[in-house]
Amino acid sequence: MARCPICGEALKWEELIEQMLTLENFSELLTDKGAFISAFEEFIFMCPHCKEEFYGRHLEMKEAEKVFELLNDFKGGIDYENKKVKLKLTNLLALDMMLEEWDKRVKR
Ligand SMILES: [Zn+2]
Repeated sequence: MARCPICGEALKWEELIEQMLTLENFSELLTDKGAFISAFEEFIFMCPHCKEEFYGRHLEMKEAEKVFELLNDFKGGIDYENKKVKLKLTNLLALDMMLEEWDKRVKR
């Protein structure tokens, strides 16, 4: 689970990605994992709890990689017009991690 590196509160991945939707080229980033990860690491997020800012690289990069995969698996999960993430990324991520522990084969 993602946590704010400053106050330690749980963060929702769909909200983190919504902050990234302000990037003009976000949809392009989803076509290139390397580009997505480096943009993520350099992105300055704001914690909705303590309002402090921090770089994406302080978050769990393994989860960021999974989020990249989920956004690619579920096309249409982002409403670009309204800058909304429709996918329940936090829940999907938890489910994905659980399945992975049970059976490595579910990993794509
Ligand atoms: Zn915080």
